[in-house]
Parts: sequence; C-alpha cells; structure tokens
Amino acid sequence: MKSIRSVYKIGNGPSSSHTVGPYRAAQLFGARYPGADAYRVTLYGSLAFTGEGHGTGKAIRSALPGAEVVFDREETDLPHPNTMRFTALKDGREIGSARIFSVGGGSIRVEGEPSDEDADIYPQRHFTEILNLCRDKGIGLAHFIYRCEDASLRDTLADVWRAMVASIRRGLAAEGVLPGGLGVARKAKLLYEKRCYNESADVAMNRVIAAYAYAVSEENADEHVVVTAPTCGSCGVLPAVLYYMHRDRGFPEEEILDALAVAGMIGNVIRTNASISGAECGCQAEIGSACSMTAAALASLYGLNIDQIEYAAEIAMEHNLGLTCDPVNGLVQIPCIERNAVAAMRAISSVNLSRFLYETRKISFDEVVATMYRTGRDMDEKYRETSHGGLASLYNGGL
Ligand code: SF4
Repeated sequence: MKSIRSVYKIGNGPSSSHTVGPYRAAQLFGARYPGADAYRVTLYGSLAFTGEGHGTGKAIRSALPGAEVVFDREETDLPHPNTMRFTALKDGREIGSARIFSVGGGSIRVEGEPSDEDADIYPQRHFTEILNLCRDKGIGLAHFIYRCEDASLRDTLADVWRAMVASIRRGLAAEGVLPGGLGVARKAKLLYEKRCYNESADVAMNRVIAAYAYAVSEENADEHVVVTAPTCGSCGVLPAVLYYMHRDRGFPEEEILDALAVAGMIGNVIRTNASISGAECGCQAEIGSACSMTAAALASLYGLNIDQIEYAAEIAMEHNLGLTCDPVNGLVQIPCIERNAVAAMRAISSVNLSRFLYETRKISFDEVVATMYRTGRDMDEKYRETSHGGLASLYNGGL
C-alpha cells in the first residue's frame, strides 16, 4: 500500500475526481508540452455527464488557460468511468496526446504509466494483515503507521488538520446561496446558532456536529479549499466529528493527529482494495468510506483497541452498502451536503456499538470492503455519478 498521505489532498472543491483530479492531470500534461500553443481536452463517462455541474472545465482551464474542453457523452467503451484525452497542438498540428484517468480522491493515472503517486511503503494490503502484526507486536494502529511512514507524516497531518479547521470556520461564518442554479442556501451558520429551548446534550451534540459537516461541505460546493477525506464530496464527515471532539470535548491536537492517521489507514485500505470513487462504485465508496474512516478515528480517539477500531469501521461501511450516487444537476449539493452530516452521526453510532459488541462480530473490515467493491461494480451505471438516476432524475425543482 501507498502512504496514507495519498488519502488527504488539499484542493478546491467541489469534486476530487471531477475537479482536483482533472486539474492535476491538466497541470501534468501542460508541463509535458510547454511548447504547445493550444490544448484540447475531451471528457468521457461520468466526467462528461456531470463535469459541467462539477466545474471540470473550469478546473482544467485554470491549469491550461484557453484549453478547449469537449464533453463526449456518446463514447461508452472506456477503460475507466472518469477518462480524459488530452491533446497538445502546435500550429494546428497534434504534437502529443495522453489518456489520463481520474481514479478518485484527486488521484490520477496516465494510461500505460505507473501511478503518479509514491511507491508502496506498506508491505500489507489488507487490514487483517495489519491487525495481526499489531497484535503480535503489541502496538496500536497509530504506532504502526508512524513506524512505516517517514518522520514528516506528522507535519503533513498537521497541515491537513489546519486546512480542515479553516474550512469549518469559513463555512460557519458564510451565508448566502450556493452556485449552480439549484438555489441551495448555506445552512451551517443557522444550524450552529439555532440552539433549541431546553436542548438536551445529545441534541446539541448532533446539531453542532451537523453544523460542522455542513460548513465543510458547503465550502466544497462553493469551490473553496477543502481536504479530501477521502473525497471532496465526502469531505465534511471526518473534520466534523474530529473538530467537535477537539473544540467541544477538549481532545488535544496531538491526539487528533493520531486519529487522522488511523482514519487515513482505513481510507488507504479501501482505495487499495476497492475504490473511493462515486463514478466507479457509487456513494458508498465516498460517504461510506468517509463514515468508516471517521468511526475508526473516533474509536482510536476514545482509546479503544484495534478490534474495536476495526469493528467500528466495518459497521460504518456495512450500513452504507448500496448507497447510490445521484447528485441533482450534477452539483455536489443534493444529496451530498446533508449526507455528510448524517454520515457523521452514523459514525458515532458505529463506535457506540463496536465499543460493546466487538467480541461478537462476524464480518471483517476486509470482507465489507470487498463487498462494497463488488456491489459498486454491480450497480447500474446511472447510479454511479452520471446524474441519470435516483434523485437526479426525479427532482422537479423543489417544494
Ligand atoms: S452523491 Fe455521494 S458520491 Fe455522489 S457526488 Fe454526492 S457525495 Fe459524491
């Protein structure tokens, strides 16, 4: 497996695979052909269907100014659902081209070349291998991660945490309507300030965590800077719960960074053995993964053992299985923003169950990840970020 750093990318929303990935692909291609006087980029599959709403063209043109971006919705014989063809031109003649895939979470792969990311640094590929090693050595999951990664990981995690916190604070302060034409108003500030009369501690906790999740997700929908966790569409779940534990419950930043490392490993196992791309496996791969990462992070923060951490992550994924991706108008707003808040609460419930029931569990995390992948591949294409099914097809303009 690669470094857990590959799970967390700081970049502009609203979609890791539709904005961060294409932006990085455009940057890479432009650097290969600096002498070109024009570029043409053809988008296929999910990028063609929802790229307009996701701002894919804008992201590409910000790295390749003046590039012609074509949305090809006819081609169906594709090696990956997020395929792009980049062509460099000089004096009207083609001087180079490449097919590049946006493989999820902002990562890209050039056809016929090794991945753009670091080499494998973990010999393990599955969680069970890590679990057994940690048990044998009597070490915790965060400890294992720090032993495998280089010393700068803590600095990277601190940067990630700062960017997450900044997105929450900006989102809580912002008001107005999100771009794209759906007329979706920002709600984070309202939720945060709307304390009910005689509000119980539980209701207050859920309201505040939801406000944090909305804050980040609305920043993402507004194309501002967020951290993929593991994607832009699902970027609100993990920071919401961790910020609540830090700011409202007083857990120190040092422990939050350990929890981020643990969440990163869960995301890493999922992206290695399945997918974190809504275009590949539906929303279970995005929100399901974020929920799973968050449950593991919270379990780790509470000092639960590695079996309880694994079970929390497993529960969180298991009950997101089959979750489809059907963003209305191709925007990362409905159902995405609300879904982040609900997933944050589900992550907390998963930890509450795992704390007590981990010794009775029957399904491993690896099994649920494999199930998610198979379910995603079985899913009709219209539920994999094409905006052709579900809410996207039935929405009629609102109440
Ligand atoms: S429905 Fe889920 S996977 Fe699809 S764009 Fe929204 S958050 Fe991403």
